[in-house]
Amino acid sequence: MKGLAMLKIGEIGWIEKDRPKCGSSDAIIRPIALAPCTSDVHTVWEGAVGERYNMILGHEAVGVVDEVGSEVKDFKPGDRVIVPAITPDWGSKAAQRGFPSQSGGPLGGWKFSNIEDGVFSEYFRVNQADYNLAILPDRMSLESAVMIPDMLSTGFMGAENAAIEFGDSVAVLGIGPVGLCGVAGAKLRGAGSIFAVGSRPNAVKVAREYGATDIINYKKGTAKQILELTGGEGVDSVIVAGGGPDILIDAVKIAKPGSVISNLNYFGSGFGAEDTLPLPRVDWGFGMAYKTITGSLCPGGRLRMEQLAEVVINGRVDPALMATHIFNGFDKLEEAVLLMKDKPSNLIKPVVLLE
Ligand code: NDP
Ligand code: ZN
Repeated sequence: MKGLAMLKIGEIGWIEKDRPKCGSSDAIIRPIALAPCTSDVHTVWEGAVGERYNMILGHEAVGVVDEVGSEVKDFKPGDRVIVPAITPDWGSKAAQRGFPSQSGGPLGGWKFSNIEDGVFSEYFRVNQADYNLAILPDRMSLESAVMIPDMLSTGFMGAENAAIEFGDSVAVLGIGPVGLCGVAGAKLRGAGSIFAVGSRPNAVKVAREYGATDIINYKKGTAKQILELTGGEGVDSVIVAGGGPDILIDAVKIAKPGSVISNLNYFGSGFGAEDTLPLPRVDWGFGMAYKTITGSLCPGGRLRMEQLAEVVINGRVDPALMATHIFNGFDKLEEAVLLMKDKPSNLIKPVVLLE
């Protein structure tokens, strides 16, 4: 079987591998829609999680069940399914503590294109199929559905972790597809004003559509503009979904005391030999201003996918608006991944359809 792989840090290419074996609780899936992620870019071109040789990339997929193990009860060959980017081991201690994405060690629920082969393949294996797959609703387009496994799940988590109350002011630093879902999530959580920070014109348009009240171009100074617009007070919640290793400086500067800074970034690089991320000492109240920084991995699993599918089929958000570049055919995958790396100004998210 053919797959698009990270050959080593800085290099991708097509490789041949054996079709994965189906364990008793697993399912083997044939993808019908795939999307590359900025995380694939961090993993390959920044070597963010370390070296990987010939690891098939990708973790955003919708597919058809091809085979199920003997213990799988709820899915059968032919079912069309949404596959979460994160496929935890639900019996693990981390899952029982309420952190399934960290099952099997830090970030251990993130198997595809991290510790196992990913979904950019003719077939891929899903562990604990009954707990990790969700039926794709008939009424949902593939462009919408393929945004659920990671973009919607991560962006909405940004809003969930940001502890948004009705009427709160929220800043979303970065409006690529993750931040855009943060904007949509903040609106659904009842935010008042939403400051969306970014510059790509298509993303700005979708940010407004998803509920942004103010667009801030970071090139003119994010903190300065947001502090001016809030009378020097800053915002109640910050969602971080873009920028470099120094982005937390802006986040802390614009966060009111008592606020939560909800980081979604996968920091591909830090500063210096110690590989650190800086915080502004004074703006962080010398460490004492109750400005909480959280950082989390996308929630996965069946229930999460079913819940997000409900949000989409009931028209609360239209994720297909983010699919700016649609490719047809498995062979186009490499072009789509390179597009995600190069980020032309009209790009939000590329999607590859396989049927
Ligand atoms: P994109 O690269 O598409 O978007 C990044 C956004 O950040 C763009 O809007 C960009 O603006 C903006 N930006 C750039 N510099 C700054 C700055 N200095 N201040 C504020 N905004 C800035 O990324 P994605 O939306 O695809 O992903 C965002 C992050 O989320 C990535 O690090 C990704 O790896 C991570 N991620 C994390 C997951 C998790 O589980 N935690 C899951 C999935 C992704 P412009 O409009 O000018 O391009
Ligand atoms: Zn992703």
